[in-house]
Order: sequence, then C-alpha cells, then structure tokens
Amino acid sequence: MATSLTATNQEFKPKAWEDVSCPLCGERKSKLLERFGYQHRYSYRRCEKCCLAFQSPRPVYDTEFAETAYEVYSTETDHVYRDGQYTEKGKVVYAEYKNILAELEALVGRKGRVLEVGCNTGFFLKVAKDEGWSPVGVEISKTMAEIARRKYGVEALSGDWVVQSYGGSFDVAYCSHVIEHIPDPSAWMRKFREVLKTDGILCLSVPNMNSIDRIFKRLLKRIGLKKDHWQPWRTPDHLYEPCEQSMRRFFIQVGYQLIRTYSYPSEWSGPVSLWHRLFHFWLRWGAKQRYYLRPVATAKTPQLKVQVWLYAYTPEGEVKTLLLRLIPSRGGHWQPVTGSVDNGESLQAAALREAREETGLNFLAEPKPIDFDFFFERRKVQFHETVFVIEVALENGCLPVPSLDGKEHTEFKWLSLVEAEHAAAPARFESNRVALRHLRENLARKK
Ligand SMILES: [Zn+2]
Repeated sequence: MATSLTATNQEFKPKAWEDVSCPLCGERKSKLLERFGYQHRYSYRRCEKCCLAFQSPRPVYDTEFAETAYEVYSTETDHVYRDGQYTEKGKVVYAEYKNILAELEALVGRKGRVLEVGCNTGFFLKVAKDEGWSPVGVEISKTMAEIARRKYGVEALSGDWVVQSYGGSFDVAYCSHVIEHIPDPSAWMRKFREVLKTDGILCLSVPNMNSIDRIFKRLLKRIGLKKDHWQPWRTPDHLYEPCEQSMRRFFIQVGYQLIRTYSYPSEWSGPVSLWHRLFHFWLRWGAKQRYYLRPVATAKTPQLKVQVWLYAYTPEGEVKTLLLRLIPSRGGHWQPVTGSVDNGESLQAAALREAREETGLNFLAEPKPIDFDFFFERRKVQFHETVFVIEVALENGCLPVPSLDGKEHTEFKWLSLVEAEHAAAPARFESNRVALRHLRENLARKK
C-alpha cells in the first residue's frame, strides 16, 4: 500500500512520465490547453480530432500510481452515513441515487441486477439494495471494498474488474467518475458490453470540461487573474477531462447508442426547475455529465461517407478550394464534395467518383486522405466520414468551372483556405473547418 501522502503533505512525485495519444480516439496530434498542478508541472492537451482534453505527458500508470491516486478517496468514508444515520450530505446523495435508479428502471423497464464498477465505499449499492435492486460492486481498492461489505452489507468485490467474469447477466451497469482515471477506456466499454444483457443500459458519469465553471476558470487563468489551488500531494489522477463532443464520438466508435445525456452540479437531487432545465439539460453547462447508453448490436457498423476538398494553385501560387452550394431543400449551405461509399467500394474510389460526379473536373492526382475522419449521428443513423483532398488542374491558366448537377447544387465558389474557413459563406460544420486546417497543414508540409 502506498504511504499516506495526505497525512504527510509530501509532494507527489511520479516515478516516470509517458507521452500518449488521445485515449479516446487514438489521434496523435494535440495542442497544449492548460497547465495545472503543483508548480504547474502537469498539462492537459486538446486532441485535434475529437477535442478531448487529456494529460500528456502523464505519470506512468502503474500499481503504485493507482494506489496513491485512489487512496485519497478512501479517506471519505463517513461523510454520508455515520453511526447508523445519514448525514445531511448523505440525505442529498441518497435522493440523487434514488433518482438515477428510477431513471434506469424507466429505461430498462424493470428492477434487476445492477453492477457498479468503482463502487468506492458502497453507498450507491446500499441505496440500490434499499430500492429493490440486486447490486454487485467492484472496487480496485481492497480497503474500500471491505468498508462497503462491513458498513452496508453489500456484495463488493475487490480487484480489477476487467479480469473478472460475470457473463452477460446485468440489467444495468453504473460507473460514476471512474472512467476518466482509466488508461484504456475502450477496453472497459467492451467489457461493459460483455456483462450487460442485450437490452441492458450503461450509466456513465464523468466530469464536464466544457462546463461554464471550467471555461470561466481557464479564462481567468489565461489572463493571470487566477492561480491553481492544487495541493502538492494530489496525484493528477484524471487522465482526461471529457467533453460531450469527445464522448459522443467515442460512444459511436465503441458501439454504443447514446439514449440520454445531461449535465448536473456536484450535488443535486431535484426538483427540476426551469433554470435547472436550461442550465443542465439544454445548455449542458454543469460541472458533471451523465450519459445513458445502450450497446448497439455489433452488426450495425456506421455508414461510411467521404468528404473531398478540391484545391488548385493559381498562377500566382495561391491555393484555392472549391465550395458548392446545396439546393435549398437540402439546406442551401456551402460545403465541399461529400457522398456515401457504395457497397464494396474503397474510400478512395468513392472520393474520386463523388468528385467526378459532382464537378466533372480534371484532376492532377488521385484522392489523398489527410489524416482526418470523424463520426456523427443524424436521424438515429451513425456515420463515419473520412476526408480526402484532390488537386485540380487549371484550364488555360484559370480556375476551372465545374459542371454542377442542378438537382444537388446551385452555385460554386473558389475561395482561399482562409476565406473558406472564415468568410461570409463559411463551411458550416465544425468538421469542415477542422478538415480545412488539416488541408492547410498538409500543403504547408509539402512546400
Ligand atoms: Zn481524440
């Protein structure tokens, strides 16, 4: 067991550091977002693909780090239930858990077996038991699992749940503020799928990096009006700080359908006021976020799409890219060439076919992927779109005129990359703007 850092107030010193790719989507490229911690040694980087804020470099995740990191939570055992009585805080938390269980019951249509991963000292398991569920908890800390068993008489196993087997028998899996501590969250999502019944529900709670509070604090830090209050003994145990955008992409990637999500404050047990609805349900500005998920049947892979940016060098050496305007009934906005991939067709072949069909232009080279793809959901269908670029030949030294199919597009424009990103007729979707940035970087590298 690690020595108690809280007691001695020693500074936590990682044994070694490691650089990592984005833990959710695997992307290597990221930008420094903020430094935090004692003497500002830790840093969050923002993934350029899915927007996740994650630590890199981060302390090497070994047993000693995990034990030191979780030890701090085991000191909080008496704050909800003491001497056979609920504390004031305990009453609030109890009501909150009761709400969650009621929501889960409504979604899954019954009370059944619930597995809590990272059950801490077992308070959720106790409430679940009181409410008529059959709860089982898993907790990496032996001390905490022991407290759960002794204090609440609930079934709490200790150890790493990924190596234990439960065999598809749970109606609900509940995991609250744990997954952001885990180096390989995809493995956990696969495991949740294994332990759930086919119609089971996973309830996942995580911090919300895009809460109004965090955005405001980052702003104050940036302009020098706020310093960190990071205690030296604290381990940087949140390996990443999710936001909704990164999690939505991650859920599709690992095969889950998002049923419901909302943000919530640190402690809340209702009632649902109009203010609460606006702040947490619609704007999702709260400090924490909860996701209700259902594993998607494995046969349902996302539909494949391509997005193709056509570009040309003018005689003056400037790069221009082609945007097409959709017909009004399809939104009327400007976008690059896009289209679906036919059955059995390669992504590259689809990119070439779509570019030809939509513009009829001559190309100087084959479509090239630019290392950017993304997931999105529209009308309950999941899509995976990959971005390509194609260089277009000039015609008599001028930018060529595409032949548009009037059933799909009404107008075209050749724009500089900056214009395409920011001008009055900008690319409408964030994914378009990110693709443009990738295109710009790709071309700059080529020079
Ligand atoms: Zn990412």
